[in-house]
Amino acid sequence: APGLFWLSRDFRFADNPALAAACTDGPLLAVFCVDDLLMSQGAASRWRLEQALRAFDAALRKRTGGRGVLVLRGEPDRILPALVQNTGAQRIHQSDWPTAGMRAVQDRLRAALAPLGAGLELHGGHLLAHPAMLRSGAGTPYRVYTPFARALRQHGADRPGRDAPARITPCADDHQGLAIETLDLAPDMHRGRALLAKFALPAGAQQAEARLDTFLDQAAVYPAGRDHPDQPATSNLSEHLALGEISPRRIWAIASLRAAAEPALAPGITKFLSEVIWREFSWHLLIANPDLPTQPWRQEWSEFPWQQRTSALSRWEQAATGISLVDAGLREMRVTGRMHNRVRMVVASWLTKHMMTDWRLGLQHFADSLTDWDPAANAMNWQWVAGCGPDASPYFRIFNPVKQAEEFDKKGIYRRKWLAGFDGSAAPEAIAYHDSLPTDWHVARHWREDASDERLRGGREAALDAYNWFR
Ligand code: FAD
Repeated sequence: APGLFWLSRDFRFADNPALAAACTDGPLLAVFCVDDLLMSQGAASRWRLEQALRAFDAALRKRTGGRGVLVLRGEPDRILPALVQNTGAQRIHQSDWPTAGMRAVQDRLRAALAPLGAGLELHGGHLLAHPAMLRSGAGTPYRVYTPFARALRQHGADRPGRDAPARITPCADDHQGLAIETLDLAPDMHRGRALLAKFALPAGAQQAEARLDTFLDQAAVYPAGRDHPDQPATSNLSEHLALGEISPRRIWAIASLRAAAEPALAPGITKFLSEVIWREFSWHLLIANPDLPTQPWRQEWSEFPWQQRTSALSRWEQAATGISLVDAGLREMRVTGRMHNRVRMVVASWLTKHMMTDWRLGLQHFADSLTDWDPAANAMNWQWVAGCGPDASPYFRIFNPVKQAEEFDKKGIYRRKWLAGFDGSAAPEAIAYHDSLPTDWHVARHWREDASDERLRGGREAALDAYNWFR
């Protein structure tokens, strides 16, 4: 019988115990399902997943001597049992991706496999450590980052699992799948596709490993540079992690070895790993509380009178608030599918604190637009900025976008790049975007105008409102 590998968000060969186990079962049949769960996700992240799938397929063909991934359209609980019946496989191997949506798909699949005497086997690899291994003194999941990070450092990351073999025997199947070359997982993305392609960082597991190595070489500049959107100091590994092109356990193992070998890099690597722990923390929170993307973690926030759909929200979505750093960030995301972390915080703070708009609307816009969309990181960070998360920035803390810009984009390099009209040096794509906006939308033409924007004062007033509301 063949080894059935259900590819989900683990587009890699190293530390992929699900794939390794399937290769041990027998000749490999690697399947990817284009299902409702995938198609309900944001277009930019689907577009990026398509790149991951292509890169994985090409690499798999090299290992098998020509056979790649079988891509089928439909629900796993219909497709996979049929494959089990046709091939006589006993079990299906999948790397776990513990979201509520995936849990529901897995449950339906288990129910459909049971009558066939077959099962679903879930493997690790998405996380540094099993959530059960990290519990507070009271035996409950951690709600605060610092003790969580301390416990994780003490426990250490789990050791990477098995790699897939260099030579893989493929299953001689005659199933007809969708052609990967012409596959379009983001048919609803009209504009913007060419832009994403133009600004895309190369996809694939090999690229992820190379990017990690290059980043570690310059990890010494990470602590001072990581907050500056005008400097290329961060790792850009988030898309790779979101698609499982590299596992966090592998990042941990490689980075730790490097820090031990080169003490000059150690402080930078420690800081970098503390960010990888933020990712881990967000997943442990999501597992403990699957409602994280939709419900405020702190109960008292559930009645908060957020603004809902307003014209101000549309302008925020269109990157036309008139506040230069906010618009620059939103335009970077629109054009590239990514946004610098510092600017994500500023943009989210503007929406929730100055515009008093429901964080879930911002979360949705990010989920629709980010190529590194990650359900846990997105939800935890939005709740953090809004003030309703477990270990959140308090509601009276407001990012002043002008001060943030003065501190982190002193020379305006970042804003010049993404805002048209400043001095004509913006990226051509940013200029084209600017020109496509309605002319009555007054967009920051000059970043020095920011300081006199009345709405900056509005932030303080809004905070006062929030304060009174909580009293
Ligand atoms: P680096 O600084 O090199 O960090 C290394 C890795 O650590 C990242 O690749 C990422 O996996 C993880 N990481 C870093 N910062 C955070 C953080 N604050 N929270 C969780 N993990 C982190 N990140 C996503 O991957 N997907 C999202 O959908 C996402 N949504 C966000 C929404 C908001 C409102 C905010 C404020 C942040 C969000 N982030 C999200 C976190 C962060 O902005 C990105 O992970 C980071 O900008 C990616 O760049 P990098 O890989 O160069 O990061």
